[in-house]
Amino acid sequence: MSKLFERIAADLDRVESAPDEVLSDAVRHRGSCGWLDTADAMPEWTGDDRADRELVKPICGTCPVWRECLESEFRTHGYALGGVWGPLPENERRAVLLLWSERRDGTSGAGGLR
Ligand code: SF4
Repeated sequence: MSKLFERIAADLDRVESAPDEVLSDAVRHRGSCGWLDTADAMPEWTGDDRADRELVKPICGTCPVWRECLESEFRTHGYALGGVWGPLPENERRAVLLLWSERRDGTSGAGGLR
């Protein structure tokens, strides 16, 4: 699993130089969840993270701006990230966050995130 996390963290280097507002605009205008929400086609959420993650996997899994979305979440929330995102539960996203943080500033604390 750690190889997958490393790959995801490395993949986020593609959006490293993007300003925050570019990331949030991309998510707002091109995120699959936004389109589904507009079309009133979001899945029926259960309130259970595990079950809802199964519902969201195919949505985030084909989202054209998943990198922008995850990068934005890391920058904005850091270790306090939460909610359901793609196939990764919060603890696994935090594992990616630590690798991401190491790539960005050489620390693994994620406490110095913006
Ligand atoms: S990755 Fe998922 S949560 Fe993020 S914008 Fe895409 S569909 Fe929405």
